[in-house]
Amino acid sequence: MDWSVPPAWRPRRPTSSDAVDECPRLLLSACLLGQAVRYDGGHKHAPELVEALGRFAELIPLCPEAGAGLGIPRPPVDLHREGDRVRMCGVDDPAFDPTDALTDWCRQQAALLEAVGGCVLKARSPSCGIGSAPLHHPDGRETSTDGLFVAYVRANFPGLPMADEETLRDPVQLVGFREWVFSYAKREE
Ligand code: SF4
Repeated sequence: MDWSVPPAWRPRRPTSSDAVDECPRLLLSACLLGQAVRYDGGHKHAPELVEALGRFAELIPLCPEAGAGLGIPRPPVDLHREGDRVRMCGVDDPAFDPTDALTDWCRQQAALLEAVGGCVLKARSPSCGIGSAPLHHPDGRETSTDGLFVAYVRANFPGLPMADEETLRDPVQLVGFREWVFSYAKREE
């Protein structure tokens, strides 16, 4: 896939005709859609989730790390606390620091984020994790935090519905997320 073109603009249409009237658009981690964008060149296809979301929403895949130009495959990265900031760096090479590249790419998605009704993202990713990305501290502790893309969204688009694929495996959570997306869209009108 040519990632020089922003992947967010390759929409996947709803799979159910009864959802087309007021069809919200959702950003979806591209690896969950089955696109081979992970650091190891693989994916994390979640076909049941894609099917369920596609019944009521147009799905727009995006991959922050591929979009920011880190390559496919690419060195694995994780998050480290440094003073009051969180730095993304290479697991094997701590000198590899794509924090600024990721952050710049996130800023470039502002117009896209204005136009969508929510995000469904990969759990525990240093970019896409929603409160679930491992964060390494100087004293050796490990806690959890938002991935860099999620941190940007939370800071700049408060209230935008977000959920990860693990949460949405629960049918009750999926129904709740759908309602959240539609109520967010109404609030925006
Ligand atoms: S979790 Fe996010 S950054 Fe990682 S491969 Fe999937 S879409 Fe890309």
